[in-house]
Amino acid sequence: MLRDTIVLTMSMIRSSQPICKGCGQSINGYYLTALGAIWHPEHFVCATCHRPINDTQYYTHEGASYHTECYRDHVVPRCAYCGKPLMSEYLVDHWGTKYCKEHQSQYPKCAFCGRLVPPQQQDQGAQSSERVRCPICRASAVESLPQARTLFQGLMQQLNAQGLQYNNPPLQIELVDRVRLAQLLNGRSGADALGVTTHSTHMLNGQVVRTEVNGIAVLRGLPSTLFRGVCVHELGHAWLTLQGIQGLPAWAEEGFCELLSCRFYGELNTGESHHHAEGIEKNPDPVYGEGFRRVRSMADRMGFQRFVETLRTTKRMPSA
Ligand SMILES: [Zn+2]
Ligand SMILES: [Zn+2]
Ligand SMILES: [Zn+2]
Ligand SMILES: [Zn+2]
Ligand SMILES: [Zn+2]
Repeated sequence: MLRDTIVLTMSMIRSSQPICKGCGQSINGYYLTALGAIWHPEHFVCATCHRPINDTQYYTHEGASYHTECYRDHVVPRCAYCGKPLMSEYLVDHWGTKYCKEHQSQYPKCAFCGRLVPPQQQDQGAQSSERVRCPICRASAVESLPQARTLFQGLMQQLNAQGLQYNNPPLQIELVDRVRLAQLLNGRSGADALGVTTHSTHMLNGQVVRTEVNGIAVLRGLPSTLFRGVCVHELGHAWLTLQGIQGLPAWAEEGFCELLSCRFYGELNTGESHHHAEGIEKNPDPVYGEGFRRVRSMADRMGFQRFVETLRTTKRMPSA
């Protein structure tokens, strides 16, 4: 968008008469200069209402000119949050949402997608999470166990098809609140963990004799795409344990699980899944982010199937 000014001049008697850009006829009397050309005042018209632009100020957009009001009412985008026309500098989020610059500091961001969440859109009442969630993420949230089970079964089948077998006892999926999740994590991982693989450890005389995977627990209320990505990550941990692959360095184990998650997001191929895939790819964390990049480069070099098969048979991360 550009604001410009009209210059209105009286045509002088001269050898060559000025020609109007609008009608192509010569001009006698007043003409105006705008858009690098000259015009009969009545032929410099607004692209919206087609009436002459007589105001000294007008707007141009993609080569067309507009009255200030026509530009404001018909051309400029509106703020997604307050509906005001965005006449001056404005912001656009990852999803293409356009909004007034000042909202950036007024509204919190959705913890799952990064969209701003104005007060009227925030969750009412006590929720399982104290994090802000936008209406879009809320609409797809996984809140019930039957819903979670259906998605979970589908994901296991998908991973099976990629060469990750889960033959043994059926894995359980649990939806938990933050307090329960923190208990299950038992001090492991960061505060932003969204899921955990649940094990039972069999001890004899103070020694671990066997570790069994029970299933996975995921925070209740995650948007569906993220829920599935978290499940796939945790299914990575479950698969490693089921295959007896233990004692991998943290970067290798988390990197492997992040790789599964990232591949899942890539196959899903939606705007939202790309957002999460990008989050994994650009994660600066030395364990999750660096681990992912190292494991991915190995898997890329060997081919995913061979990589998984080597991991399964040697019980070790293939060396770089
Ligand atoms: Zn003309
Ligand atoms: Zn107009
Ligand atoms: Zn606004
Ligand atoms: Zn959101
Ligand atoms: Zn993990």
